[in-house]
Formats: sequence, structure tokens, C-alpha cells
Amino acid sequence: MPFLKTRPSQSGPIRLATPQRPFCEACGSDEFLVYEEFIPARVLAAGAAKPAEASYTCIECGQFSAHAVPDGWEPPGWFWYA
Ligand SMILES: [Zn+2]
Repeated sequence: MPFLKTRPSQSGPIRLATPQRPFCEACGSDEFLVYEEFIPARVLAAGAAKPAEASYTCIECGQFSAHAVPDGWEPPGWFWYA
């Protein structure tokens, strides 16, 4: 997997989103998560790969989170309506 080209002269924080499996740190579990959105990995017009993303809420503590998820991960029981 090719590394993203970064410009050293670029100022400001560079956010590197490391794909992580959805997990509620407050509860120490993923069993209470309800997935609200899932965007599969895709390739942008410029040829850059963008990892899959998911957003979810933990129904146990109400924590909402959204971030990139690892290749091949998808919400349990997920299926396409298309
Ligand atoms: Zn929780």
C-alpha cells in the first residue's frame, strides 16, 4: 500500500487517521454499538485510497464516534440494499 505523499512545508496539524475497529473505550466493549453510517473504502479521483469509515453510537453510555475502519471490516449483519 503506497504511502501518502506529505509536504513537509505544510503547516498545521496533519491528521493521520489510523483505521481502527469500532470500540467503546468507556464500556471496554463493542457489543453495545449501533452503527449509523458505513462508507466502504474507495479510491478518490486523484488515485488516493480512502479507508472505509463508520459512525456509531454506544447505546450503553451514549458515546458517539466516527472514524476510519480497517480494510475488510464492516458492521456485523451489514448488507447492501442496492
Ligand atoms: Zn459505551
